[in-house]
Amino acid sequence: MKEVILIRFGEIFLKGKNYFYFENTLFKNISWRLSKFKLNLIRTDGRFIVSDFNEADKDEIIKNLKCVFGIVSISVASEIDTSLENIYSLIKNIKIVKDTFKVEVNRADKKFPVKSPELSRELGHMLLENNKGVSVDVHNPKQVVNVEIRQNNKTYIYFDKIESLGGMPVGTAGESMLLLSGGIDSPVAGFLMAKRGLKISAIHFYSYPYTSEQAKQKVIDLANIIKNYTGDIKLYIVPFTKIQEEIHKKCDDEYMVTIVRRFMMDIAERVAKSNACNSLITGENLAQVASQTVEGITSTNKMAKDLVVFRPLIGFDKVEISKIAEKIGTYETSILPYEDCCSVFLPKKPVTHPKLERVEKNEQLLDRERLIKEAAQGVEILNIKL
Ligand code: ATP
Ligand code: MG
Repeated sequence: MKEVILIRFGEIFLKGKNYFYFENTLFKNISWRLSKFKLNLIRTDGRFIVSDFNEADKDEIIKNLKCVFGIVSISVASEIDTSLENIYSLIKNIKIVKDTFKVEVNRADKKFPVKSPELSRELGHMLLENNKGVSVDVHNPKQVVNVEIRQNNKTYIYFDKIESLGGMPVGTAGESMLLLSGGIDSPVAGFLMAKRGLKISAIHFYSYPYTSEQAKQKVIDLANIIKNYTGDIKLYIVPFTKIQEEIHKKCDDEYMVTIVRRFMMDIAERVAKSNACNSLITGENLAQVASQTVEGITSTNKMAKDLVVFRPLIGFDKVEISKIAEKIGTYETSILPYEDCCSVFLPKKPVTHPKLERVEKNEQLLDRERLIKEAAQGVEILNIKL
């Protein structure tokens, strides 16, 4: 008998002919994630098994697995060679610590001679005999003894399922460019889209010296937190000062924010396309701030000409977003009081319903291509590695 960690995956089972592409990517992601530990990772029918690890690493291994998208749940299990005698002798030694229990048998190996309901009953009786004062409750048991008979001639016996994140393996949907600010929303938006299988690159616009070094560091820190879920992130940091100064100097005050946003989207799309990203992600949220009215978002959206823009938070309340931020560990960093470049030259009354003709008329006062080219020359690329 040896102790192993059993890994289950969920939605990728729906993938029909593409199933193995998803399973292979998940296996690769897990192997890579666990590469710092001494252990053995194998795949069997519908499960991955981690074995031969140091007991002292167990909690840390589980903690790492809980961050991998595509895994639905994890169990610490006893592994035995499949045979009735081996199952009996393991069940004989099990202590039922709650007052009610049930046995659940999963006979994935159909060659095993005893069918699941019959084996569950038999094992249930054994447990009742060896554990005085407990009873079987098939509907609401306080303890479940799970017995999985798998096709690799091994049987796994365990009590608990540790819920994991679910979602799709990162990379199966290609790569996307996240517009990452220092706020609460955009890290959460990146997390949610990585959950659907997108590998993440990120782009941040900063306006030094109007915004501080700490504001930039905060974004790097946020990328370092979400990489625990997304894997390695290439972070593009774009100097934005000159562009904001020009807009401030030449454009209508109330259109400042709209035009700034459009520059961000334009540059993000260019960087995304030249780095094989298939989409953009923002933390935009309808009606959250003045620039996020339907007209505001429409106006920004126009600058993404070829790539789809994912806005996974569009219908969330701030409270809901903050809860996810707390869960994934970004909240405390996001609320640090360092200003984002969006607050530089903030007009007293930003337009809430921008008119496209007026936006474009204002933009004609700027040498857009030159400004963008200059910003591109100053881009700093950081590899945020797991
Ligand atoms: P967040 O919490 O993500 O900062 P927010 O409520 O502050 O969101 P806005 O400031 O209006 O919202 O920004 C909307 C979205 O625009 C952000 O979620 C982000 O995707 C993008 N964005 C804003 N500022 C920057 C920036 N400096 N660099 C990169 N992207 C940005
Ligand atoms: Mg912001």
